[in-house]
Amino acid sequence: MVKETEYYDLNPVPADAPENDIKRAYRKLALKYHPDKNPGNAEAAEMFKNISHAYEVLSDEEKRKRYDQYGKKGLEEGGGGGGFHDASDIFSMFFGGGRRERGEPKPKDIVHELNVSLEEMYSGKTKKIAVTRDRLCSSCDGRGTKPGAEKNACRECRGQGVQIRMQQLFPGMVQQVQVRCNACAGEGVQVKPSDLCQGCNGKSIVKERKILEIVIEIGQKKGDHKRFTGEGDQHPSMKLSGDVLIFIQQKPHDLFRRIGTHLLVNHKITLQEALCGFELPIEHLDKRMIVIKVPAGQVIDPNFAWTVYREGMPLPNTGGGERGNLVIHFDVAFPETLPSAQIDQIAAALGAATSFERVAGGQKADLKPYTAKPKARGAKQRQQRQMMHDDDDDEEGHSHGGGGGGQGVQCQQQ
Ligand SMILES: [Zn+2]
Ligand SMILES: [Zn+2]
Repeated sequence: MVKETEYYDLNPVPADAPENDIKRAYRKLALKYHPDKNPGNAEAAEMFKNISHAYEVLSDEEKRKRYDQYGKKGLEEGGGGGGFHDASDIFSMFFGGGRRERGEPKPKDIVHELNVSLEEMYSGKTKKIAVTRDRLCSSCDGRGTKPGAEKNACRECRGQGVQIRMQQLFPGMVQQVQVRCNACAGEGVQVKPSDLCQGCNGKSIVKERKILEIVIEIGQKKGDHKRFTGEGDQHPSMKLSGDVLIFIQQKPHDLFRRIGTHLLVNHKITLQEALCGFELPIEHLDKRMIVIKVPAGQVIDPNFAWTVYREGMPLPNTGGGERGNLVIHFDVAFPETLPSAQIDQIAAALGAATSFERVAGGQKADLKPYTAKPKARGAKQRQQRQMMHDDDDDEEGHSHGGGGGGQGVQCQQQ
């Protein structure tokens, strides 16, 4: 029995979850709440910090044991201090970066998502993405001043970079606080305006747009990422350049749904087709036309899924040599009513009696078509959409109802 579950609830996984599940959960949530995806959203930033810290503890065998036994308090008391790494560093390390050579500081990763179509994941494609990054100004090499500029100690703060201010806590009680000097932006030096670099207005860095080329490999999937080392932000106080991290997202497809390496198609057929056979042409993701042949005599039971082997998504690193399956689910459209002449014909064809056995006694109960109330129907559609969405999260398992789900779901049985 664990003492507290807060860290488990955050990510959210059960307290006995294996390491892989914790990783998977963190991967999904960290992407969702990453500050680059939620600019100016303080709530998301806080969540990002919390889940990262929870992950930092749960992914470390030693820390997790201590947390399970003694809770958060145990972490603070247990040696090594309760100190956490910066959430962005935890995120970067998780996605294979952030390895600081000799503790060299590095600007935070720039995180982007790239929408990729299923066709592009099937056949492979090189795509371009534009990122805006901070780079050291090339006219002044990041110094911010013209060559030979005089740098004098800031007069406002006497070169300290900070100023002491008095702050009244309540009448009669004044507190001294240190604030960053506005005159020199905390630098401690002042430069004549005429000596400032004109390329960057003295800021040392400029915004720069950079086009990155991303190779979508055959069989790539949603959630895969590419790291561009050194292509991110630069800062005059840091020797290393930051990285750009691109995450692949999948655009929804009109026909196919991807489940892992398999492709799923829903197709509506008539009752006659279900009983008597048909041919179904399907344009595949590489524009090939494949024809599903259901011979006469093969009855399609809509309760089963049907498989075309090796017509699914290519397996990664096989160049398309290995593929998953194409799975087809048939919806059978039954006629709403039958004229009596047809009833006789069908009964005869099936070798059945034309009239059924009547039950004696009992209370008569009429069968009416079920109609959902409009509101409930909307709820059901929402729920179905939600389920489909969850299904698409192939390797990430089912969503644990992170955001706003749940409403309306219980109305479906009215
Ligand atoms: Zn100053
Ligand atoms: Zn400059």
